[in-house]
Amino acid sequence: MKPLLFSELVLEPEALRCVLGQMLLRPDPPQSILMVGMTGIGKRTLAHSLAAAWLCPERTQRGHCQTCLVCQKWSDSGEHPDLRVLKPEPDQIKIDAVREIRQWANFAPAVAPFRFVILEEAHRLNPAAANALLKTLEEPPPRYHFILTAPASDLLLPTILSRCRIVRLGALTTESIYQHLKARCDLPDATLHTIAEFSEGAIGRALRWAETLAAPETESKSAQGELHALQNLLRVFARLGTASLEEALRLAYEFREACKALEGGGEERSARAALALGLEYLIQWYRDSLALGHPNASLRFGSHRAEIAPLAKRFTAAERRRDLQTLSEARRAILGNANAQIVTEHLFIQLLRAG
Ligand SMILES: [Zn+2]
Repeated sequence: MKPLLFSELVLEPEALRCVLGQMLLRPDPPQSILMVGMTGIGKRTLAHSLAAAWLCPERTQRGHCQTCLVCQKWSDSGEHPDLRVLKPEPDQIKIDAVREIRQWANFAPAVAPFRFVILEEAHRLNPAAANALLKTLEEPPPRYHFILTAPASDLLLPTILSRCRIVRLGALTTESIYQHLKARCDLPDATLHTIAEFSEGAIGRALRWAETLAAPETESKSAQGELHALQNLLRVFARLGTASLEEALRLAYEFREACKALEGGGEERSARAALALGLEYLIQWYRDSLALGHPNASLRFGSHRAEIAPLAKRFTAAERRRDLQTLSEARRAILGNANAQIVTEHLFIQLLRAG
């Protein structure tokens, strides 16, 4: 897909638009930017949109001009002669890829005033590749800029972090996602609410699902599979309120299977990112279980109160707070290099241990 115009992106916090817009007005882009935020929040969309703006000699605060010679070089699939995208293949970014990028920097920009490298899931750089990147960031070739993305800044080497300007993307509220969907999609209200709940504040993901439902013949099968996978995930979560400890490995297996269907969606998630996303939903499920006791609290999975209630009944609030800690640790391990089966099996045993 061609990069979207910066001014058309939905950003949270809204103040970010102003900060980035100001940045676009300066003659030179920052040397390196790190975009931080959870999966599906729009890091890649924003990275491409900013790169397009900076490549364009006619850029304004609104983004690239879409008509100049440089802008015309964007292919329909989002490629540009002065842009390279590095991403994990399949699970790591290796040193060869970083070296190849380094070679590319020996040439002047083809048409634009700068060259950009977008490094997706930068926390997946293996140690050798991270060191090679660090060297490049320390002595950057002229007119050569980086945009890195990662789910959290503490997953990167401090030495790389110190070279980057950090941009944090936040989640939209369920209500604001719902309002965006309502303005754009012709779907029943209940469906829009469900999609907003599932989207976890990620507008890109929400829109993609909504478009899939609105035009099932033309839209991708993968997005439909993804919605289905999410429903399967919620069925696994619902069993945590009643399942016995003996069922822990079975649930861990079903959890991983459901996450697998999240892989390769329109967002081209890696297996690890898909598992981490599944864990994010589970974290939200536990937060909802803690919020159940407060009558006015709004729940992420508000339409699943009846399925969340048994969990709250089975384990004390203190136990579930401890479980939240365990869940965060598991998510962190998954985003690192830990074995997914071992981590998830251990996790579900912890979650189902006798209260
Ligand atoms: Zn242009």
